[in-house]
Amino acid sequence: MRRPIVAGNWKCHLTSKDAVALVQQLRRELGTVHDVEIVVCPPFTALSAVAAQLNGSMIALGAQDVFWEPQGAFTGEVSAPMLVDAGCRYCIIGHSERRQHFKETDEQIHKKLVGALQHGLSPIVCVGETLPQREQGKTFEIVRAQLRGALNGCSAHDLERTVIAYEPVWAIGTGRNATPAQAQEVQQFIRQELGAGWDATPAETMRIQYGGSVTAQNALELLQQPDVDGALVGGASLKAESFVAIVKAVASARAVS
Ligand code: PEP
Repeated sequence: MRRPIVAGNWKCHLTSKDAVALVQQLRRELGTVHDVEIVVCPPFTALSAVAAQLNGSMIALGAQDVFWEPQGAFTGEVSAPMLVDAGCRYCIIGHSERRQHFKETDEQIHKKLVGALQHGLSPIVCVGETLPQREQGKTFEIVRAQLRGALNGCSAHDLERTVIAYEPVWAIGTGRNATPAQAQEVQQFIRQELGAGWDATPAETMRIQYGGSVTAQNALELLQQPDVDGALVGGASLKAESFVAIVKAVASARAVS
């Protein structure tokens, strides 16, 4: 049985003070939820402050990006050992906003994945098609290419520590989520691809999140799909009330499925 994982991507929002206030509230309200793994991904500047608040809690810390080299003359970059030092266990890699606005390539995403794994971080690798790609019937082709580009050369052992987030680009921040059937169709395909490219064991144990306009209202039905093992939540993770409601909906979806 895969343990569901819900991660909040706070994007380029919240000062340290606001981040601390949010995580304190999450800690208070989610302290009794044990069957869902919960991750928060603040901006780099708030990582240490949030880590201090998470001491002794079940909520894990993640970063929104990572650089592939451990150190060196790479102005502005933050490496995996630095993230571990700041208290991170996870890092998001290949988010569509980075692919779109910062022109991140599959090759760079692969290097980030390798760098993260080498230093003990668990990567959350984002894949997903744009609306024109979906309308042209290219969803599987795009998702397959992104998966292979990111994961090629990784061992089955590496994959066991990796989470995949299926995030259709047309659903991110738009209020238009994929239907449960659409999410299940692609996530089942992702699991099949993982089984074909590596072997059945990591494919069965790896968690695949859905991301794209997840709310407390749609989380339950999405999470009842057999290949949806959690959620990557953007906008709704910035308010304790909505994030707590999503985590609780995920917990109850697993309890009834
Ligand atoms: C995201 O940032 O990964 C995301 C899914 O955003 P939203 O939930 O706002 O669509």
